[in-house]
Amino acid sequence: MVDKILFLDLCKELEKISKTTKRLEIQSILSQFFKIVKIKDPNSLSSIVFLCNASLYPEYLNTEMGIGEHIIQQAISEGTGLSVKTIKQKFVKSGDYGVIAMDNRVNQLFASKKLLTVEDVFNNMKRISFETGKNSTNSKKNLMLQLMNACSPLETKYLIRLFESQLKIGLALQTILISISLAYDESNFTIIKSAYNKHPDFNYLIEMLLVHGIEKLNIFCKITPGIPIKPMLAHPHKNLTKAFSKFENNKFLSEFKYDGERVQIHHFNGVTKVFSRNSEDMTEKFPDITSMFLSEKSFIIDAEGVAFSDGKIMPFQLLSTRKRKNVEKIEVAVCVFAFDIVFFDSKELLDMPLSERREILRSNFSEIESKFQFAIGYECNSVEDIETQFKNASEGNCEGVMLKSLTSTYQPSHRSNSWGKIKKDYLDAVGDSLDLVVVGAFYGKGKRTGNFGGFLLATYNDETTRFEPCCKIGTGFSDESLKLFYDQLSPKITSNPSQIDFNDKSIHPDVWILPHYVWEVKAASLSLSPIYSAGSREKGISLRFPRFLNERTDKKPEDATTSNQIWRMYNESVDEKSDDAEFN
Ligand code: ATP
Repeated sequence: MVDKILFLDLCKELEKISKTTKRLEIQSILSQFFKIVKIKDPNSLSSIVFLCNASLYPEYLNTEMGIGEHIIQQAISEGTGLSVKTIKQKFVKSGDYGVIAMDNRVNQLFASKKLLTVEDVFNNMKRISFETGKNSTNSKKNLMLQLMNACSPLETKYLIRLFESQLKIGLALQTILISISLAYDESNFTIIKSAYNKHPDFNYLIEMLLVHGIEKLNIFCKITPGIPIKPMLAHPHKNLTKAFSKFENNKFLSEFKYDGERVQIHHFNGVTKVFSRNSEDMTEKFPDITSMFLSEKSFIIDAEGVAFSDGKIMPFQLLSTRKRKNVEKIEVAVCVFAFDIVFFDSKELLDMPLSERREILRSNFSEIESKFQFAIGYECNSVEDIETQFKNASEGNCEGVMLKSLTSTYQPSHRSNSWGKIKKDYLDAVGDSLDLVVVGAFYGKGKRTGNFGGFLLATYNDETTRFEPCCKIGTGFSDESLKLFYDQLSPKITSNPSQIDFNDKSIHPDVWILPHYVWEVKAASLSLSPIYSAGSREKGISLRFPRFLNERTDKKPEDATTSNQIWRMYNESVDEKSDDAEFN
């Protein structure tokens, strides 16, 4: 008879892991445990690995537990007898619902219960995730309570954390994969990693391991059209000469860097699917892409989808206005710029050099004007070649260039030295974007009449706890966003700007706005200016040519870029000027 692994066994291992921060120790604890599971109860290995990753499904399915903070508070309240108010107060102190539930459990309930197996917990958690629709909050909570009531205090702690989809013990995906590898006595972790990156599903990985063993994993673990692979990533370069020095010993390509959305296009059995940079299924967002391919052969193409109109590339923001689902009428046309192919006609191409993959792409597909084009790229032999390509890319509304070694293989999920990216912004702008607080607004004129046309943005001074204006911004906004911001900001207009630092010389907006909204902004450079106060010196720091990127709804005004940070950024940019001069 198989010895079932208990949920308590898993929790004890997780607890051990929580007591150390040493990577090797964590790997040793986990790999020993996986080894035992492999022998005693192999069928539960995949569920255990999922739970160690605080997940139930592969990431690409985008299926969440659907348990919000509110349901967790309710369930703990009913399971412990504490009021929700008390739980909230305790949470402010401990920041951990798992510990609150563990410390306040009614222990006697547990005494006579049958011990939960890992499979019990995993399957019941899946049941909870299936509950959707009208009364799902209640049914989810009841199922959670049933599980909680069968748990010991330690199990309760980890159960609650699993409900929250975070174990909070510093267990990264990489550590889990290394531990699986070690459980198979294999110290070469790339075998497991590459198998997982080709098919990022623990269920599939563990099944392949159990059936074929680690030695044959790479033969049997295949890319499967319809299941997204993790895209290959590039290293940023701030300097053309330095970037060239990294590539000059290799044959390499300089390719336009299009500013849109990464699209991984899968075509199989007459069906086309589109996945995002983060493996999300975007098929419904791009009916125009899915209707493009009639090929009988299966393939996976790596590309950038770009908003396109009248033969021209349009700004990135346009594409983000497209709905994610049920796109019936195409208002923003998309052109796909294909730059790589990783699977064609039932064959994986990952290990082929880029030069050959490009050849396969170009010889088997035909461009369709304004719909499907090959990314423009040429082999380069000098810094001047890259510079020319960079100039052409900028003139063609691209955001820079990619450098790619023509001999490089496709390494899923790897930020490889074989791919480099150089953006216009990196060369002539402040390296990083800033998160600034809206503290004032100017009424719009002309096309913008009826909305605000410009905004006063500020840094946060965490010593004085006041906001210090650093720029007026009017660029980067769509008509829709201006309308939205007018509606959002109007209720925040105030005649008492007591939290804002300004003096007679300062720029005064038409209306002051209570600090509430944080926006991400990019600038060409930073400079000193007497009309701004950011940095609290005699002259403040201001942003030159600020451009709105997006709202940071995840940030509070106190989380914005601080005045000290902007001061440091200014000083660094002054130091770096000599470094950048060679490109200007
Ligand atoms: P990263 O994807 O490197 O984590 P990110 O998401 O911030 O960073 P960028 O820094 O803009 O994106 O640069 C990488 C992205 O550039 C790719 O993920 C891809 O979407 C896009 N891209 C545009 N043109 C190309 C191209 N020719 N080759 C590869 N990627 C390209």
